[in-house]
Amino acid sequence: MDRRDFMILPGALMAGSFVEAAGDVPWHQKLRRVGQLNMTERDMIDLDIPQWADYWASAKVDAVLVSVTGILAYYPSKVPFHRHGQFLGNRDFFGECCTAAKKRGIRVIARMSPDLNWEDAVQAHPEWFERNAQGEVVHHNEDRRLFRTCMFTTYYTEYMTAIMREINQTYDIDGHYTNGWPPIGRLPVCYCEQCKRLARPGTVEYWEQFTQRVISLWNLYDGIAKEKKADSLFYANLGGNVRATPNLKQLAEVCQWFNCDNQGHGGDDTPIWGCAQQGRVCYSVMKGRTTTNVTGGWSTGGVRWRNAAKSPAEDTMWFDETVASGMVIWYSFIGGQTGMGEDHRWQAPARDYFNWLAKHDRHFANKRTIAKLGVVYGQRTHLFYKAPGNFSTQQYIDGLYYALLEGRFLFDFVHEDDLGAETLKKYTALILPNTALLSEEQCRQLKSYVDGGGSLIATFETGMYDERNRKRSEFGLADVFGIQKAGEIQGTVGNAFYARIEKQHEILKGFADTNWIPGAEYRVPVKPVDSPILTVVPGYVAYPPELSYPPVPHTNEPAVVVREKGRSRLIYFPGDIERTLWRSGHTDISRLLQNAVRWVLHDEWPVRIEGGGVVEAFAWETEPGFAVHLLNYTNPNMHRGWIREFYPIGEQKVRMRLPAERRVTRVELLRSERTVPFHVSGGELEFTIPRVVDYEVAGITAL
Ligand SMILES: [Zn+2]
Repeated sequence: MDRRDFMILPGALMAGSFVEAAGDVPWHQKLRRVGQLNMTERDMIDLDIPQWADYWASAKVDAVLVSVTGILAYYPSKVPFHRHGQFLGNRDFFGECCTAAKKRGIRVIARMSPDLNWEDAVQAHPEWFERNAQGEVVHHNEDRRLFRTCMFTTYYTEYMTAIMREINQTYDIDGHYTNGWPPIGRLPVCYCEQCKRLARPGTVEYWEQFTQRVISLWNLYDGIAKEKKADSLFYANLGGNVRATPNLKQLAEVCQWFNCDNQGHGGDDTPIWGCAQQGRVCYSVMKGRTTTNVTGGWSTGGVRWRNAAKSPAEDTMWFDETVASGMVIWYSFIGGQTGMGEDHRWQAPARDYFNWLAKHDRHFANKRTIAKLGVVYGQRTHLFYKAPGNFSTQQYIDGLYYALLEGRFLFDFVHEDDLGAETLKKYTALILPNTALLSEEQCRQLKSYVDGGGSLIATFETGMYDERNRKRSEFGLADVFGIQKAGEIQGTVGNAFYARIEKQHEILKGFADTNWIPGAEYRVPVKPVDSPILTVVPGYVAYPPELSYPPVPHTNEPAVVVREKGRSRLIYFPGDIERTLWRSGHTDISRLLQNAVRWVLHDEWPVRIEGGGVVEAFAWETEPGFAVHLLNYTNPNMHRGWIREFYPIGEQKVRMRLPAERRVTRVELLRSERTVPFHVSGGELEFTIPRVVDYEVAGITAL
């Protein structure tokens, strides 16, 4: 097979071992750093192009984004309605940037924006635009001179393709990229003539049509990119974390490069791990193929300043999470005039970080994770499930995530459409955090995983709906867990329900001096089981205190159902305990979840990390051997605001099971740039990380 044949194979075939076997990897798979000064219209007169290119060269980036756009042309475009930027004049701004980057050995990706166009285009091509329920075109919510285009129209198949071909003809570019399409975090709601023929917006049927359209446009654009040269490609902004819009498993079959527009968080109540969690979402479908995450050096969050830098410590933590979770950093700031002139504090921290990273690139060349615990990522549930109380489904995942970090577990996300035996064979246990929507086929796959000895934890309404969001009369996994629904969801008026301890069990380790522990905010009543471990004490008022005692102190309704079948261990929690943990922060619930995970894993750990502090851990098999990554989240800003400074944690003792044939020759701490002594006995590698400031990577060389 020659290089050309290899390049045109569908993305899915390029994964993992195939790449190694072919001995040839596409250029984008070798990317380590990407830079983007997101160009404004004014940059056509203000940007010092050599200075711009020199900065990115000094930061050792492999590729830069240069704007072609679609809203405003940054080059002398002849495509009708591709309005020239008002400061373009007779220049070819795109071409000059392209040449400057290439001169410095940096690849160029052409950045396009298909999402908006102007009034004159609306007049000439009313069919290109999104319509509201009244049939009116939809203004952009910030700049009302712009109108939202509709992705189901010929705007995407004729206008955008004309721009792509025009760029191909003139410039030596390495790829095409769209910002603003596919939409992130929200599915379109459009009533144009094209969209009227589709299923009703907001339904699973609509989502399937949406995904098909995304895939068909992706293929169309990728084909155009490859008309230029075989190793060029198209990719787009994805991201959205667990609320990604297209079906990611299906998209990953055609997508060679997954870019996450997940630029940072803000002062609101969002956890620090938003980037690492995004990395897990990506890995679940890309399995190590090219994945980038954009870090915005600007002030991200609910209140925004797109042209002012954020704290360097926050930038650094987002970089740390990007590379720890197996993604590649893409660093972005807006505007030459603003970004190179008014505020250039974003530049130095990134340049320093990138230069550090470049020294250690080989330890970031990952082959696969070595986790044995999978968390099922139910994309349909995140898009369509209506949680009681209208809570965001993100709370289920964040609550579980918090408990898994506190327990220092290594885990992967596993996409719900990837539950076949081949994927699941590496996992000892799977967790289904209120994975409400599950098809018959997915239930069957989980059942056969259990029959083969796999363990499961599920919560609340897992399997209560089918893949089209139709409610079932019984849990889809009722026979697996030995559960039967006994009533509708119960909420709470004051005191949430309690879980009474009926007998000792490993999942109750650490609960002494109490007869009960907190249950959860909501629960699905299930029928009694033999010899229960925890039973429900129904909730009651919290006020007035005179009445704050249980009118029904004891029931036989289970608060957990625990089962063992051969090697398989099964736990079902009728309460939404992971979400309740997120809402309450209750230490008992976190402990109960951690105990449950340890029990289903038979207390076996591929990597055990002991020490103080809240950390997120990743462990990878890498090209030189292995890498253990520790992110230090021990910080007053873990749940709110930006990281201002780091609070170092002390000794972390690492023990790792080694595959029989591997011999370790060196353990190097990449962040502190020193080697540490190590010890191998009984197939277990042991070493100590003396201190972690923001992040540490133990790069393990193994023959
Ligand atoms: Zn439409």
